[in-house]
Amino acid sequence: MLGYGKRFVKRFLVLSMALGLALPGAARGQGASATAIEPGSPDASIVAALRQVSAEHIRANIEKLVSFGTRATISAQDPESIAAGRGIGAARDWIKAEFERYSKECGGCLEVKTDSFTEAPADRIPQPTVITNVYAVLKGTSDAQRIVLVTGHYDSRNSGTLDGTGDAPGANDDGSGTAVSLECARVLSKMKFPATIIFLTVAGEEQGLNGSSHFARMAKEQTWNIEAVLNNDIVGGDKSAEQDHSVVRVFSEGVPAAATEQDIRRIRGLGGESDSGSRQVARYIAGVGRAYAGTVGVKPMLVFRLDRYLRGGDHYAFNQAGFSGVRFTELREDFHHQHQDVRTENGIEYGDVLKFVDFDYVANVARLNAATLAALAAAPAPPANVHLQAKDLENDSTLTWDVVPGAAEYEVLWRATTSPEWEHVLKCGKVTRATLKLSKDNVIFAVHAVDGAGHASLAVVPVPER
Ligand SMILES: [Zn+2]
Repeated sequence: MLGYGKRFVKRFLVLSMALGLALPGAARGQGASATAIEPGSPDASIVAALRQVSAEHIRANIEKLVSFGTRATISAQDPESIAAGRGIGAARDWIKAEFERYSKECGGCLEVKTDSFTEAPADRIPQPTVITNVYAVLKGTSDAQRIVLVTGHYDSRNSGTLDGTGDAPGANDDGSGTAVSLECARVLSKMKFPATIIFLTVAGEEQGLNGSSHFARMAKEQTWNIEAVLNNDIVGGDKSAEQDHSVVRVFSEGVPAAATEQDIRRIRGLGGESDSGSRQVARYIAGVGRAYAGTVGVKPMLVFRLDRYLRGGDHYAFNQAGFSGVRFTELREDFHHQHQDVRTENGIEYGDVLKFVDFDYVANVARLNAATLAALAAAPAPPANVHLQAKDLENDSTLTWDVVPGAAEYEVLWRATTSPEWEHVLKCGKVTRATLKLSKDNVIFAVHAVDGAGHASLAVVPVPER
C-alpha cells in the first residue's frame, strides 16, 4: 500500500549478494518472500471515494462559513445573532446541521456531537466564553476503539484578537481546514472501516488553542486510542504569484511534546530524534501521497519541525496530550491575507477573503487527508511491544512484536540513520520475530502490520530489550 519501493529491496538484495551477506533470516527460515510493497497499487474503493471529493462542495462550504461575517470565538452566539446568521454561534449550528445532513444521507452512520465548555477569562478571552467543538464519528465496524482524526478550526480572527464584532471572513484560516473535515466526512461516511474516524471542527484556536486543548484532554482522560491527528490549517492555496499548487507542507514534531525524562534519555541514546509517532504519521502520509498520486493531485512535502517559525496550531494541543499528529499548510502563506482587517492600503489588499482561495487546491488537500484516514482506518493496528534484542553484542538484529488482530503479515522497514524516509522493506510473513543480517547500530528499524488486502498500519520503531 505504501510506496516504500521495490527498487530499495532490490538494491538491498543486490548489495547483500555483492558483499556475500546471507539473506535476512526471517526471509529464509519462515517461508516469507522478500518482495517489496508495490507502490502505486491503491485500494480501488478508496480511489472511488477520493473521486467524490468536490471542489464545488468545498467552495459552497467556505462561502457559507464566510457568510457568518465573523467567527471570532468571542463573537455573538445568542439566539438573535444565530437567527440573523452572524457570529460563531451561527457557524457552529450550521456545521452541526451539515454533519447531520451527511449522516442522514448514509442512514444515520455518523454520530454528530458537540464538546462544549466555558473558558475562564485569559489574555485573549475577556469574559467567560462558551467554546464548542463540533464533531462527527464514523464508528469502526470491528476495531472501533482505534481512532484516526481530522480537524480544522472554524473560528476566525482579524487584526485584533479581541475584536468580536468586526468582519473576520477567515476563508483560508481556517475555512479551508473546516471544509476539509466536512468534505472528508461527506465522502468517507459512505464507506465502512474496521477503525473509527472522527471528523472534528474546533473553536478557540486563535485565542490559544482552547478548543483543541479541551478536546485532547478529554480524549486523554477517557483513554481514547487516537492513532493519528491530521490538522488542516491554512490549506486554501492562497493565489499569490509564488504559490506552488502542487505541494502541501506536512509539519511534524521531532522529540515529542509529551516525552518523559526517560523517553528523552532513550531518544538521545539511540538517535531517535526523528522517530516520534507524529513523524511516522508524516512518513505514512508521504507514502499515501505516492500510492494515490494519480487521484490526489497534491504532493505532501514533509517538514521535520513542529510548526512554522514561532507559530502554532491545534496539532500541538494533541501532541501535548501525548497523541501523534501533524499539520497540513499550503506551501507559501500570504501574510496580507491572514489575521488582517479587510481593507486596501497603498494598493495592497489585506484580509482573508474568498477570492484568494483556490478551491481545487483545497479539494486536493482533502483527497490527501481522506486517503490517509481511509488507509489507516482500513489497516490493522500498529504492532505493540516492538523490541530490538540487545542482550548480547552481535551484528545481526532481531526484532520481536506482538500479534496484531487482523494482520495477514508483518514487514520490517529500515533506513539509514541519516535518511528522512523508510528506504527498505522486508516481508516477514505471519510471524512475530525477524532476524536481519544488518547491524542495529547502523540503521533505524521499524515494523508495521499489513492486512490481506495490503493495507499497512503505521510503522513502530522498536525499543531495546536487554
Ligand atoms: Zn489557523
